[in-house]
Amino acid sequence: MTDRILIRNATVLTQDDALGEMAGADVLVDGDRIAEVGRGLSADGAKVIEADGDIVIPGFVDTHRHTWETSIRTSAPDYTLGAYFGAILDKFAPNYRPDDVYAGNLWGALECLNAGITTLVDWSHIMNTPDHADAALKGLRESGIRSVFAFGFPNTSIQDWWFGPDYAGSVERIDADDARRVRRELSDDDGLITMALATRGTNFCKEDVVRFEWELAKELGVNITVHVAMDRFGYTKMQLRRLKEMDLLYPNTTYIHSSHLLPDEWQLVQDSGGNVSLAPQIELQMGHGWAPAVTASSLGIPVGLSSDVATTASADQFTQMHAIFASERARKHQDAWEEDLDGNTPTPDLLNSRQVLRWATLEGAMVAGVGDRTGSITPGKKADIVIIDTKAVNVSPVIDPVGAVVCAADVSNVKTVLVDGRIVKDDFKLAADLTAPRQAVEASRDYLVGKFGDPEPGWLTAPAAVG
Ligand SMILES: [Zn+2]
Repeated sequence: MTDRILIRNATVLTQDDALGEMAGADVLVDGDRIAEVGRGLSADGAKVIEADGDIVIPGFVDTHRHTWETSIRTSAPDYTLGAYFGAILDKFAPNYRPDDVYAGNLWGALECLNAGITTLVDWSHIMNTPDHADAALKGLRESGIRSVFAFGFPNTSIQDWWFGPDYAGSVERIDADDARRVRRELSDDDGLITMALATRGTNFCKEDVVRFEWELAKELGVNITVHVAMDRFGYTKMQLRRLKEMDLLYPNTTYIHSSHLLPDEWQLVQDSGGNVSLAPQIELQMGHGWAPAVTASSLGIPVGLSSDVATTASADQFTQMHAIFASERARKHQDAWEEDLDGNTPTPDLLNSRQVLRWATLEGAMVAGVGDRTGSITPGKKADIVIIDTKAVNVSPVIDPVGAVVCAADVSNVKTVLVDGRIVKDDFKLAADLTAPRQAVEASRDYLVGKFGDPEPGWLTAPAAVG
């Protein structure tokens, strides 16, 4: 049978508490599902992938990426969050054509697959027309990735966007009719592409807009994903407290960044059954604040990692794992330094590598709302699987396999990737032909940069003062 695949003799980091970490183990895939995990499984006619000594993990989950921005990758390496709002969102986004959204989404989703990200939450605040929505979906579909299409708001005017004519004053609403149309198209909540609603919340919109969008999510029966408590743009107005007052704390809502939530607001996230998506590389680099993964985790709040924007940092989960591991430990070490702990006393309560891998996979799936079907190598779940090469010069020799994935490996070591039981990357090579998608995204870049205005070198850092 051609729809059965046996991955043989690997170290399998299942992320399933009952199965744990298994050396010399096999994973049997039957159709779109994981059928069995164990030692010495029979191939029985299945296609065999010899993974001798390699490491098998569940596919990574990127819980928040503005995939459309892939067309303008690296346009803003030195930006702060404020500069980003002024240039990327106010000057690039209104010029986006449906073709640009398609090109960015397809290329970004292929980038994900290449990096072992098998589930992507596409935070799509580029719904300028219904054609833009269709183009975004077309890009996701053609890539073959599992995705949550987080339908957002239009971004067509500098005057009335996140901030509107006055701070927290946007009156522009999500196009409800088009959201309903897309929801009918994505009506299968077990499908490869499911739907969420990407909203702005109380720090960016008039309250009647907030209520309208939250109630729309309820009507559509989809989860909400919203940026909160980032730098000063979500701090001064206490977004979570306000949502509580408005009775809009829905379960399974994803609170992105959450860098400056106050203790009582963390309690609101926990009590309402919310979760967080943290983009540590971006948060540290652009000034959102610390990525408070340990705070969330200590409250039992699911933590997902995310890449956010390709304009400013690399957008793979190895980068996010390194950033969260280093920054959360750095904060504890700093506390220990300030408490003047004896040099022989280890810093207490340090984050460990296994927790980091869990956030990048299983908890990410929970945050994306697909934890029931992916995020772990569990029989019965969808076969979203990654094989990491352990022979590579930057990975071998392996002593601790989790250390190998979290601390040593990078995108170049992602050898084989399965999504929904289909091999999308085999022996380091994507199944997709990259030529046409690359030409499309490069043409999109040329168009968008041309529309931006000033052609001088360094022009992109000019519009909003950096630093
Ligand atoms: Zn974001």
